[in-house]
Amino acid sequence: MIATNTNKVLLKDGSNIVVIGGGPSGSFFSYFALKYAEKRGLEINIDIIEAKNFNCLGPAGCNNCGGIVSESLIQMLSAEGIILPSEVIRKGIETYTLHLEQGRAVIEAPIDEQRIASMFRGLGPSGCAPNGLKSFDDHLLELCISKGANVILDRVVELERKKDGILVKTKSNIKKEYDLVVGAVGLNQEAFRLFHKICPAFVHPKTTRTHICEIKMDSGLINEYFGNSMHVFLLNLPNIEFGALIPKANYVTLVLLGKDIDKKIAGKFLNSDPVKKCFPPKFDLESNISCRCYPHINIKGSKSAYDNRVVLIGDSSTSKLYKNGIGAAYITAKSVAHTAIFQGISKENFKKYFQPVCNNLEFDNSIGKFIFMVTSIIQKSAVLKSSMLQVVIDEQQNERHRRKMSSILWDTFTGSAPYKDIFWRFLNPRILFTLIWNTMLAIQRSIKNKI
Ligand SMILES: Cc1cc2nc3c(=O)[nH]c(=O)nc-3n(C[C@H](O)[C@H](O)[C@H](O)COP(=O)(O)OP(=O)(O)OC[C@H]3O[C@@H](n4cnc5c(N)ncnc54)[C@H](O)[C@@H]3O)c2cc1C
Repeated sequence: MIATNTNKVLLKDGSNIVVIGGGPSGSFFSYFALKYAEKRGLEINIDIIEAKNFNCLGPAGCNNCGGIVSESLIQMLSAEGIILPSEVIRKGIETYTLHLEQGRAVIEAPIDEQRIASMFRGLGPSGCAPNGLKSFDDHLLELCISKGANVILDRVVELERKKDGILVKTKSNIKKEYDLVVGAVGLNQEAFRLFHKICPAFVHPKTTRTHICEIKMDSGLINEYFGNSMHVFLLNLPNIEFGALIPKANYVTLVLLGKDIDKKIAGKFLNSDPVKKCFPPKFDLESNISCRCYPHINIKGSKSAYDNRVVLIGDSSTSKLYKNGIGAAYITAKSVAHTAIFQGISKENFKKYFQPVCNNLEFDNSIGKFIFMVTSIIQKSAVLKSSMLQVVIDEQQNERHRRKMSSILWDTFTGSAPYKDIFWRFLNPRILFTLIWNTMLAIQRSIKNKI
């Protein structure tokens, strides 16, 4: 093994950085690294190597995602000068509609103007007419180009550690040595194998299989049946912890999260009464599905996602459990950009400044796991679900600031707040009392119905 020259672990004028993967984490890293370098008066070169062309329709340009941008992320990005233009946003989401077997309730944003947006990561599903609309990932890449990054559409196929850098080889046979390699490869297993070679202690994230499908629908019907609402489902169906229907111009995106979702499980969900009721009567769901995929999602972060001159960010390092993965990509990417520009690019630098950020996300995810465990208990109990539904329906009559349970559900579904905050808010005696009271009423009702 070639020893690395650890004396030269600071970026200097003319340093070359390669970002492998041009998804959100790769773009956020490049954007902030160039911004911080400018602040430090440092001239660096960044190549972003991305295997997909986000300007393509269908799977070739898609990064398999529900496409929800939380309001907290929209706010953070706009504070950084990253504005999402209207061409990127397919629909502004103003409410959530919670569907249970017991009924449904519309949950308004806890604060007026607290909007979220739905978008496509690529140009859209196969066969869709983009009509001047743009891909989210492509928009971020364009932003990086405007800051000075160089985007190369190619696939990295080999990484090799050299004395003072890392040699990167691509599918089209480009070979170049870089001072720093940033892995923003999402959950790509093939790419993880490349990184194990130059980052031997790296243990990649644990994942589970999810489901996404795009349902084609007339925009008029979408407005009539879905409105500006994201429809979330807590149904008692095996393996499914959470289901959502997200309206986007001429499509409705279905997202199913849970444990190893497959076609059969997805079919049960689509054929359930609460889901069918969301669509026009006799709407043929199956024949209107434009594309479907079963992408993996993080359920446990990676370990030792760094070494000298190499670091992994976004989904490849640590994400937020089930929600706001793009927000987590922003957090890890920004932290690594700050470390690389202001502290250095050694293993010790990343351990000292980046590892605590991953630890914070992982700690929050452990609370998130507990919240989803409680949710899955509620999901299986008709009485608890009736009680929760009643609390939400009652609360929606109150002024916004008094809707405590609704705001907890809003933040759980959107991923806008850390799980730690959601947990503490749930322990509010007033919420617990209201839930217990409504549960007792629901039990009483169910006994009466049985008699
Ligand atoms: C079902 C599902 C629904 C989701 N819904 C949401 C949501 O609504 N909102 C949200 O915020 N998050 C959501 N997420 C999470 C979100 O998609 C991820 O957290 C986010 O995409 C992470 O960004 P990233 O840049 O780290 O990785 P990615 O977006 O996966 O980007 C990685 C990039 O690396 C490229 N790449 C990989 N290997 C190579 C290589 N060898 N050479 C060159 N390029 C390479 C890939 O082509 C890809 O473009 C969802 C995830 C799933 C699975």
